[in-house]
Amino acid sequence: MIFKHPVPQFINLMYRRFRYLYLNDTSPVVASIKITQRCNLSCTHCTWVNKVTSDLPLERWKELVDTIYDRGCFVVFIEGGEPTFRTDLTEIISYIKEKGMGCVMFSNGTRRLPEADLDAIWISIDGTEETHDTVRGKGTFNRIMKTLKRNSEKNIFSLTTLSRVNAHEIEKICRELSSTGLKGMIFNFMYPYKDVSTNVLSKEEKIACARELIDLKIKYPKIISSDSYLKSVGQPDKICYPWLLLLATADGEITQGCTVEPAEERNCDVCDMMCGLEATLGFELYRDSVKFWNLFNILSQVDIDRCPDWALRMGRVNRK
Ligand code: SF4
Ligand code: SF4
Repeated sequence: MIFKHPVPQFINLMYRRFRYLYLNDTSPVVASIKITQRCNLSCTHCTWVNKVTSDLPLERWKELVDTIYDRGCFVVFIEGGEPTFRTDLTEIISYIKEKGMGCVMFSNGTRRLPEADLDAIWISIDGTEETHDTVRGKGTFNRIMKTLKRNSEKNIFSLTTLSRVNAHEIEKICRELSSTGLKGMIFNFMYPYKDVSTNVLSKEEKIACARELIDLKIKYPKIISSDSYLKSVGQPDKICYPWLLLLATADGEITQGCTVEPAEERNCDVCDMMCGLEATLGFELYRDSVKFWNLFNILSQVDIDRCPDWALRMGRVNRK
Protein backbone atom coordinates (compact mmCIF):
# COMPACT_ATOMS: atom_id res chain seq x y z
CA MET A 1 0.00 0.00 0.00
CA ILE A 2 1.26 3.48 -0.87
CA PHE A 3 -0.03 6.62 0.79
CA LYS A 4 -0.59 9.28 -1.85
CA HIS A 5 0.35 12.95 -1.57
CA PRO A 6 0.08 15.03 0.51
CA VAL A 7 1.08 12.37 3.07
CA PRO A 8 4.89 12.54 3.22
CA GLN A 9 6.76 9.61 1.70
CA PHE A 10 8.60 9.43 5.02
CA ILE A 11 5.37 7.98 6.45
CA ASN A 12 5.48 5.34 3.69
CA LEU A 13 9.00 4.47 4.73
CA MET A 14 8.04 4.06 8.41
CA TYR A 15 4.94 2.08 7.46
CA ARG A 16 6.90 -0.26 5.19
CA ARG A 17 9.53 -0.77 7.85
CA PHE A 18 6.81 -1.69 10.31
CA ARG A 19 5.36 -4.20 7.81
CA TYR A 20 8.80 -5.71 7.22
CA LEU A 21 9.57 -6.11 10.91
CA TYR A 22 6.21 -7.40 12.09
CA LEU A 23 4.60 -8.95 8.97
CA ASN A 24 7.74 -10.03 7.08
CA ASP A 25 6.58 -7.97 4.09
CA THR A 26 9.41 -7.84 1.57
CA SER A 27 7.64 -5.89 -1.16
CA PRO A 28 9.97 -3.62 -3.17
CA VAL A 29 10.34 0.07 -2.36
CA VAL A 30 12.54 1.47 -5.15
CA ALA A 31 12.10 0.79 -8.87
CA SER A 32 14.63 1.32 -11.59
CA ILE A 33 13.19 1.54 -15.11
CA LYS A 34 15.36 1.36 -18.21
CA ILE A 35 13.09 3.22 -20.60
CA THR A 36 15.49 3.06 -23.54
CA GLN A 37 18.85 1.59 -24.38
CA ARG A 38 19.64 4.19 -27.01
CA CYS A 39 22.53 6.47 -26.15
CA ASN A 40 24.77 9.00 -27.87
CA LEU A 41 27.89 7.82 -25.99
CA SER A 42 29.79 4.54 -25.82
CA CYS A 43 31.48 4.60 -22.43
CA THR A 44 34.27 2.11 -21.86
CA HIS A 45 32.48 0.38 -18.96
CA CYS A 46 28.92 0.27 -20.32
CA THR A 47 27.16 -3.08 -20.03
CA TRP A 48 23.67 -2.00 -21.12
CA VAL A 49 23.68 0.28 -24.12
CA ASN A 50 22.19 -0.64 -27.50
CA LYS A 51 21.31 -4.22 -26.54
CA VAL A 52 17.67 -3.55 -27.43
CA THR A 53 17.09 -1.52 -30.56
CA SER A 54 13.45 -0.41 -30.28
CA ASP A 55 11.79 1.28 -27.29
CA LEU A 56 8.56 0.06 -25.77
CA PRO A 57 5.64 2.44 -26.46
CA LEU A 58 4.40 4.95 -23.88
CA GLU A 59 1.24 2.95 -23.15
CA ARG A 60 3.31 -0.13 -22.26
CA TRP A 61 5.50 1.93 -19.92
CA LYS A 62 2.35 3.28 -18.23
CA GLU A 63 1.26 -0.33 -17.63
CA LEU A 64 4.69 -1.15 -16.22
CA VAL A 65 4.54 1.91 -13.94
CA ASP A 66 1.11 0.70 -12.75
CA THR A 67 2.66 -2.68 -11.91
CA ILE A 68 5.56 -1.05 -10.08
CA TYR A 69 3.10 1.03 -8.06
CA ASP A 70 0.91 -1.99 -7.28
CA ARG A 71 3.96 -3.96 -6.15
CA GLY A 72 4.60 -1.26 -3.50
CA CYS A 73 7.35 1.00 -4.86
CA PHE A 74 7.20 4.67 -3.95
CA VAL A 75 10.38 5.85 -5.67
CA VAL A 76 11.21 5.40 -9.35
CA PHE A 77 14.63 5.88 -10.92
CA ILE A 78 14.50 6.50 -14.67
CA GLU A 79 17.55 5.08 -16.39
CA GLY A 80 18.77 4.08 -19.83
CA GLY A 81 20.69 4.11 -22.09
CA GLU A 82 20.15 7.85 -22.06
CA PRO A 83 16.54 8.61 -21.03
CA THR A 84 16.45 11.96 -22.88
CA PHE A 85 16.30 10.04 -26.18
CA ARG A 86 12.63 9.39 -25.55
CA THR A 87 10.39 12.10 -26.97
CA ASP A 88 7.65 11.08 -24.51
CA LEU A 89 9.93 11.36 -21.47
CA THR A 90 7.88 14.15 -19.84
CA GLU A 91 4.72 12.04 -20.14
CA ILE A 92 6.43 9.10 -18.42
CA ILE A 93 7.64 11.38 -15.61
CA SER A 94 4.19 12.98 -15.20
CA TYR A 95 2.56 9.56 -15.02
CA ILE A 96 4.94 8.48 -12.26
CA LYS A 97 4.40 11.73 -10.33
CA GLU A 98 0.60 11.60 -10.70
CA LYS A 99 0.70 8.29 -8.85
CA GLY A 100 2.43 10.01 -5.92
CA MET A 101 5.79 8.35 -6.39
CA GLY A 102 9.14 10.12 -6.17
CA CYS A 103 11.03 10.33 -9.46
CA VAL A 104 14.76 10.70 -10.10
CA MET A 105 16.39 10.55 -13.53
CA PHE A 106 19.89 9.42 -14.47
CA SER A 107 21.54 11.16 -17.41
CA ASN A 108 24.93 11.47 -19.04
CA GLY A 109 24.32 15.23 -19.02
CA THR A 110 25.23 15.86 -22.65
CA ARG A 111 21.71 16.43 -23.99
CA ARG A 112 18.85 18.82 -23.22
CA LEU A 113 17.19 17.95 -19.89
CA PRO A 114 13.39 17.65 -19.77
CA GLU A 115 11.17 20.40 -18.36
CA ALA A 116 9.35 18.05 -16.03
CA ASP A 117 8.47 17.57 -12.39
CA LEU A 118 11.57 15.52 -11.52
CA ASP A 119 12.63 15.39 -7.88
CA ALA A 120 16.29 15.15 -8.87
CA ILE A 121 18.62 14.44 -11.75
CA TRP A 122 21.80 12.41 -11.27
CA ILE A 123 24.49 13.07 -13.86
CA SER A 124 27.35 10.59 -14.19
CA ILE A 125 30.71 12.32 -13.91
CA ASP A 126 33.66 9.94 -13.91
CA GLY A 127 36.41 12.30 -12.77
CA THR A 128 38.23 15.44 -13.78
CA GLU A 129 37.82 16.58 -17.39
CA GLU A 130 40.66 14.43 -18.74
CA THR A 131 39.55 11.26 -16.96
CA HIS A 132 35.87 11.75 -17.71
CA ASP A 133 36.56 12.34 -21.41
CA THR A 134 38.77 9.23 -21.58
CA VAL A 135 35.88 7.12 -20.26
CA ARG A 136 32.94 8.85 -21.97
CA GLY A 137 34.36 10.59 -25.04
CA LYS A 138 36.13 13.83 -25.89
CA GLY A 139 34.23 17.00 -25.01
CA THR A 140 31.64 15.26 -22.82
CA PHE A 141 32.84 16.90 -19.58
CA ASN A 142 32.44 20.40 -21.03
CA ARG A 143 29.00 19.54 -22.35
CA ILE A 144 27.97 18.58 -18.81
CA MET A 145 29.31 21.88 -17.47
CA LYS A 146 27.16 23.72 -20.04
CA THR A 147 24.14 21.62 -19.02
CA LEU A 148 24.72 22.60 -15.38
CA LYS A 149 24.88 26.30 -16.26
CA ARG A 150 21.69 26.12 -18.34
CA ASN A 151 19.80 24.25 -15.59
CA SER A 152 20.96 25.96 -12.42
CA GLU A 153 17.42 25.93 -10.97
CA LYS A 154 17.17 22.12 -11.15
CA ASN A 155 18.05 19.67 -8.37
CA ILE A 156 21.11 18.14 -10.07
CA PHE A 157 23.68 15.86 -8.40
CA SER A 158 26.83 14.20 -9.73
CA LEU A 159 27.28 10.46 -9.48
CA THR A 160 30.91 9.34 -9.57
CA THR A 161 31.69 5.65 -9.69
CA LEU A 162 35.14 5.02 -8.25
CA SER A 163 37.53 2.59 -9.92
CA ARG A 164 41.23 2.35 -10.80
CA VAL A 165 40.54 5.03 -13.41
CA ASN A 166 39.70 7.84 -10.98
CA ALA A 167 40.44 6.77 -7.38
CA HIS A 168 43.75 8.68 -7.39
CA GLU A 169 42.02 12.02 -7.96
CA ILE A 170 39.16 12.02 -5.46
CA GLU A 171 40.08 15.36 -3.89
CA LYS A 172 40.60 16.95 -7.31
CA ILE A 173 37.15 15.75 -8.39
CA CYS A 174 35.60 17.19 -5.21
CA ARG A 175 37.38 20.51 -5.69
CA GLU A 176 36.38 20.88 -9.34
CA LEU A 177 32.78 19.77 -8.91
CA SER A 178 32.25 21.85 -5.76
CA SER A 179 32.59 25.03 -7.81
CA THR A 180 29.83 24.05 -10.25
CA GLY A 181 26.07 24.43 -9.86
CA LEU A 182 25.70 20.86 -8.60
CA LYS A 183 23.54 20.50 -5.48
CA GLY A 184 25.61 17.58 -4.26
CA MET A 185 28.12 14.86 -5.12
CA ILE A 186 27.35 11.16 -4.75
CA PHE A 187 30.03 8.48 -4.81
CA ASN A 188 29.71 4.85 -5.76
CA PHE A 189 32.08 1.90 -6.22
CA MET A 190 32.35 -0.08 -9.44
CA TYR A 191 31.11 -3.67 -9.28
CA PRO A 192 33.44 -6.27 -10.84
CA TYR A 193 31.19 -7.23 -13.76
CA LYS A 194 33.11 -9.66 -15.95
CA ASP A 195 33.59 -6.98 -18.65
CA VAL A 196 35.11 -4.34 -16.35
CA SER A 197 36.76 -6.34 -13.56
CA THR A 198 40.30 -5.14 -14.34
CA ASN A 199 39.43 -1.58 -13.30
CA VAL A 200 37.78 -2.50 -10.01
CA LEU A 201 39.46 -1.42 -6.78
CA SER A 202 40.57 -4.00 -4.23
CA LYS A 203 38.79 -4.14 -0.88
CA GLU A 204 41.64 -2.26 0.83
CA GLU A 205 41.66 0.43 -1.86
CA LYS A 206 37.89 0.89 -1.56
CA ILE A 207 38.10 1.24 2.21
CA ALA A 208 40.87 3.85 1.80
CA CYS A 209 38.76 5.83 -0.72
CA ALA A 210 35.71 5.70 1.55
CA ARG A 211 37.74 7.01 4.50
CA GLU A 212 39.19 9.76 2.33
CA LEU A 213 35.66 10.81 1.36
CA ILE A 214 34.53 10.92 4.99
CA ASP A 215 37.51 13.16 5.81
CA LEU A 216 36.88 15.38 2.77
CA LYS A 217 33.28 16.04 3.76
CA ILE A 218 34.31 18.87 6.08
CA LYS A 219 36.18 20.66 3.29
CA TYR A 220 33.65 19.79 0.57
CA PRO A 221 30.16 19.71 2.10
CA LYS A 222 28.64 18.93 -1.30
CA ILE A 223 29.74 15.30 -0.74
CA ILE A 224 26.42 13.82 0.35
CA SER A 225 27.05 10.05 0.40
CA SER A 226 26.16 9.01 3.93
CA ASP A 227 28.87 8.19 6.46
CA SER A 228 26.92 5.04 7.24
CA TYR A 229 27.35 3.88 3.64
CA LEU A 230 30.99 4.93 3.41
CA LYS A 231 31.79 3.20 6.69
CA SER A 232 30.18 -0.02 5.43
CA VAL A 233 32.37 -0.17 2.30
CA GLY A 234 34.53 -3.32 2.29
CA GLN A 235 33.12 -4.52 5.62
CA PRO A 236 31.93 -8.11 6.06
CA ASP A 237 28.88 -7.06 8.08
CA LYS A 238 27.46 -4.59 5.57
CA ILE A 239 23.75 -5.06 5.02
CA CYS A 240 21.91 -5.16 1.72
CA TYR A 241 18.27 -6.10 1.16
CA PRO A 242 18.07 -6.79 -2.58
CA TRP A 243 14.30 -7.26 -2.33
CA LEU A 244 13.97 -3.50 -1.84
CA LEU A 245 14.74 -3.07 -5.54
CA LEU A 246 12.58 -3.69 -8.59
CA LEU A 247 14.10 -3.52 -12.05
CA ALA A 248 12.19 -3.02 -15.30
CA THR A 249 14.42 -3.63 -18.30
CA ALA A 250 14.04 -1.98 -21.71
CA ASP A 251 12.19 -5.01 -23.05
CA GLY A 252 9.61 -4.73 -20.26
CA GLU A 253 10.73 -7.57 -18.04
CA ILE A 254 10.30 -6.90 -14.31
CA THR A 255 12.50 -8.59 -11.73
CA GLN A 256 12.80 -7.99 -8.00
CA GLY A 257 16.22 -8.14 -6.39
CA CYS A 258 19.85 -7.37 -6.90
CA THR A 259 20.75 -5.12 -9.85
CA VAL A 260 23.69 -7.38 -10.73
CA GLU A 261 21.62 -10.47 -11.36
CA PRO A 262 20.03 -9.58 -14.72
CA ALA A 263 23.62 -9.43 -16.06
CA GLU A 264 25.39 -12.19 -14.10
CA GLU A 265 25.47 -14.08 -10.80
CA ARG A 266 25.94 -11.71 -7.87
CA ASN A 267 28.84 -11.74 -5.42
CA CYS A 268 28.03 -9.63 -2.34
CA ASP A 269 31.55 -10.04 -0.91
CA VAL A 270 32.99 -7.81 -3.61
CA CYS A 271 30.02 -5.45 -4.00
CA ASP A 272 29.99 -1.98 -2.48
CA MET A 273 27.52 -0.36 -4.87
CA MET A 274 25.62 2.49 -3.30
CA CYS A 275 22.24 1.59 -4.87
CA GLY A 276 21.60 -1.47 -2.72
CA LEU A 277 23.56 -0.39 0.35
CA GLU A 278 22.34 3.20 0.64
CA ALA A 279 18.75 2.02 0.01
CA THR A 280 19.09 -0.57 2.75
CA LEU A 281 20.59 1.87 5.25
CA GLY A 282 17.76 4.33 4.50
CA PHE A 283 15.22 1.55 5.02
CA GLU A 284 16.98 0.63 8.28
CA LEU A 285 16.44 4.29 9.26
CA TYR A 286 20.05 5.32 9.69
CA ARG A 287 19.73 9.06 10.17
CA ASP A 288 22.38 10.15 7.67
CA SER A 289 21.14 7.78 4.98
CA VAL A 290 17.54 8.95 5.42
CA LYS A 291 18.89 12.49 5.10
CA PHE A 292 20.70 11.47 1.90
CA TRP A 293 17.43 10.30 0.32
CA ASN A 294 15.60 13.35 1.62
CA LEU A 295 17.92 15.59 -0.44
CA PHE A 296 16.20 14.34 -3.59
CA ASN A 297 12.79 15.49 -2.27
CA ILE A 298 11.53 11.91 -2.39
CA LEU A 299 10.85 11.77 1.33
CA SER A 300 8.84 15.00 1.07
CA GLN A 301 11.36 17.11 2.93
CA VAL A 302 10.83 15.85 6.44
CA ASP A 303 13.26 17.71 8.72
CA ILE A 304 15.42 14.70 9.61
CA ASP A 305 17.55 16.72 12.06
CA ARG A 306 14.47 17.30 14.20
CA CYS A 307 13.40 13.64 14.27
CA PRO A 308 13.89 12.20 17.76
CA ASP A 309 16.73 9.73 18.29
CA TRP A 310 14.37 6.90 19.20
CA ALA A 311 12.91 7.08 15.67
CA LEU A 312 16.19 6.96 13.76
CA ARG A 313 19.49 5.16 14.14
CA MET A 314 22.51 7.32 14.78
CA GLY A 315 24.83 5.79 12.19
CA ARG A 316 27.39 3.03 12.05
CA VAL A 317 29.62 4.55 14.70
CA ASN A 318 31.05 1.20 15.72
CA ARG A 319 33.52 1.26 12.85
CA LYS A 320 36.81 3.10 12.63
S1 SF4 B 1 26.07 7.21 -20.97
FE1 SF4 B 1 25.35 5.44 -19.79
S2 SF4 B 1 24.13 4.22 -21.25
FE2 SF4 B 1 25.36 5.67 -22.45
S3 SF4 B 1 27.17 4.50 -23.03
FE3 SF4 B 1 27.65 5.64 -21.15
S4 SF4 B 1 27.21 4.22 -19.43
FE4 SF4 B 1 26.22 3.41 -21.33
S1 SF4 C 1 25.57 -7.85 -5.13
FE1 SF4 C 1 25.52 -5.83 -4.16
S2 SF4 C 1 23.49 -4.95 -4.68
FE2 SF4 C 1 23.44 -7.18 -5.08
S3 SF4 C 1 22.58 -8.06 -3.20
FE3 SF4 C 1 24.83 -8.15 -3.04
S4 SF4 C 1 25.42 -6.28 -1.93
FE4 SF4 C 1 23.31 -6.00 -2.69
